Amino acid sequence: MAKEKTYICIGCPLGCEVTLTIDKKGGVVGFSGNKCKEGEKYVLEEYTNPVRTLTATVLTEGSSQPLLAVRSNKPILKTKLAQSMAVLAKARAKPPLKMGDIIVPNLLDTGADIVASSDLSS
Ligand code: SF4
Repeated sequence: MAKEKTYICIGCPLGCEVTLTIDKKGGVVGFSGNKCKEGEKYVLEEYTNPVRTLTATVLTEGSSQPLLAVRSNKPILKTKLAQSMAVLAKARAKPPLKMGDIIVPNLLDTGADIVASSDLSS
């Protein structure tokens, strides 16, 4: 028996509710609700290989500001988010830093760097 999963496409402001039909082996057999092909592409990626841009804060050292907002400079696999947060819990940001400076390079071999979202002074 086929199963269905529904996603909201974020490809444009219309936000179509796209339903993916999946066969009993997990294969995708159909789409509905999308107003364009972008919706199919988006939900297929969400189903097979979902990624997110990670945003978080890290503790600082040597700054009057206790936390620094950071983000990944590329989306990373959703399955790696919890492990990534464990890495960020151990990371420390040391001033002086400019927005975009790398705090953690090549996070978990994903090819994504964790970068500062703002400047950090002492
Ligand atoms: S399916 Fe197409 S029209 Fe609908 S939200 Fe996605 S990009 Fe926009």
